Amino acid sequence: MKYFLRIINIILLVLVLWQFTTLASTVAAPLKTTPPTPFLYNPFYGTGVTILNSFDHQYPTYDKNGSFMYRDGTITLAANCKYDGTSDKKCYDGHSGIDYQLVHDDILGNVVAAAQGTVTYAGWAAVDHESSFGLMIEIDHANNYRTIYGHLSSIIYQTGDQVRPDSRWNGYPYFKTVYPQIGTTGTTGNSTTDHLHFDVRYLLNGTWKATDPYGWQGTQGKDPWEVDKDGQGNLIGGIKSVNLWVASPVQPYRPIDGPLVFDDNSSIFSVGCKTPMTCNWRTQPTGGYNGGNFHWTSTTNSSSYNYFAQWQPPVPIMTEYEIQVYIPSWEPTNRTNAARYEIKHAYGTKVVIVDQHRVGYKNVNNTITYAPQWVSLGHYFFNKGSSNYVRVTDSTYGVCNKWSQCSPFYDEGNGAKKLLVDAMRAYAN
Ligand SMILES: [Zn+2]
Repeated sequence: MKYFLRIINIILLVLVLWQFTTLASTVAAPLKTTPPTPFLYNPFYGTGVTILNSFDHQYPTYDKNGSFMYRDGTITLAANCKYDGTSDKKCYDGHSGIDYQLVHDDILGNVVAAAQGTVTYAGWAAVDHESSFGLMIEIDHANNYRTIYGHLSSIIYQTGDQVRPDSRWNGYPYFKTVYPQIGTTGTTGNSTTDHLHFDVRYLLNGTWKATDPYGWQGTQGKDPWEVDKDGQGNLIGGIKSVNLWVASPVQPYRPIDGPLVFDDNSSIFSVGCKTPMTCNWRTQPTGGYNGGNFHWTSTTNSSSYNYFAQWQPPVPIMTEYEIQVYIPSWEPTNRTNAARYEIKHAYGTKVVIVDQHRVGYKNVNNTITYAPQWVSLGHYFFNKGSSNYVRVTDSTYGVCNKWSQCSPFYDEGNGAKKLLVDAMRAYAN
């Protein structure tokens, strides 16, 4: 009898479910059964970029469980993982994203939007600038997915900015979908060397959950992250990873010439101050670009500047240039977290934030070194002539101890930091 009632119950349940799904399908397709359309392109230009660390399908929440599960279901003990990317499965216990080996000094330093959308956050990830993702950008793609780009050294797109396919590439034989450069690779936050942490989030029941854009390829059942529970038995996962990459995700780089280098001893470089009495530019005779001198001043925690330095290059032909600035390795721990560069280009003025503090930083086996480095400020059209310029000022976004009241770009520490100014270079399209 009990058994019979159970059968009746099951039949009733099936009828109710059938009615429900019929009803639901006339209103909207159930979300879970609709696989998302692949939409991601590589977050960098060109090819040949190494993956240092992959997504851990066991607790991609930075909870260390002692092992790492690759997307094919194979497990490596965390003790056998190597963070330099030389272990076979590129493992990192609890890792929520993909680490790409993007380095400075070439086009691979460009961090590129992976799809169109709206920037929902650009700035420091935490009060402590040497924790978490450091300087980061988050983009909402209006399809329940967001992408995060961490450990950046420069931020080119700001909160609220729209990210669109870059139509200026039309006309080139290489033309394909290309998204703009949004920042430059770096090693801000919890990081030991230059790399891009690329993180994809999916909105599930009001929470943005980490997901592996390469999808789950294990053959022995469900993605563990889909059924992961916390210590109290609560489901903390619930999101199955699916492939999100378009069939050909490469974003090709454009033809390029150069660079033209403008050092701080060239005639197109100048420094100035609002009040000559307080002018505080200093020159360091050695240690700059090509062994030469460089300029420095102290930052002011104010929205208006006292000192500025600028390069105003003669532009032979109106075209697109990638602009980079050279940061010497001098006094790294006293350098500003928030150098503010203004680029006056053919279509307006753009503000780019650069963390000079961590530029050139490397931590190998707890030995920290700093090297001089070029940092990209992005791609701009410059008018023919000399009406466009790159300017940097002493104005930073203040110091702050309470996260909820901080500017996303606040300078860490107690007051004045050093702002280093040296050479600029431009690659012509
Ligand atoms: Zn990472």
